Amino acid sequence: MPNFFDAIAGASKGVSDKAKNASEVNNLKRKILYEEERIVEVFADIGKKYYKNPDEDPAVLRALCDDIDTRRRRIKKMRFELNSIRGYKICPKCDAEVNEKFQFCGVCGARLPDDDDEDVSSLETNDYYTESDSFFNADTIKNY
Ligand SMILES: [Zn+2]
Repeated sequence: MPNFFDAIAGASKGVSDKAKNASEVNNLKRKILYEEERIVEVFADIGKKYYKNPDEDPAVLRALCDDIDTRRRRIKKMRFELNSIRGYKICPKCDAEVNEKFQFCGVCGARLPDDDDEDVSSLETNDYYTESDSFFNADTIKNY
């Protein structure tokens, strides 16, 4: 009889883990979107400050840029958490979603980051991760 109860306990644990993951995924997505929206606002803020006063103290603008970097790092970290929960990695080169078991991207062949060597604090120039896709992209203009 203990086996029966163990099986039940095991099954319900699996279900609650799934539910926990789902709410965690939504939570992370919401936080990422929030940070992305804030970043767009800070970009606008920098533009407005410069527009109003091109001789603005560079330290003021620099502080805003630092704020963006901080939020980008936060997003990067959350993206990484999000992907581990979902079981895939994002290719650092082409942004393809790849099963986390793979070492190389099936689309472009780039080496995928390992859990060990993923440096969540470093920012790459193409690190404009976005959950909302296309909503926030500071570097490139996509032609649709
Ligand atoms: Zn790729």
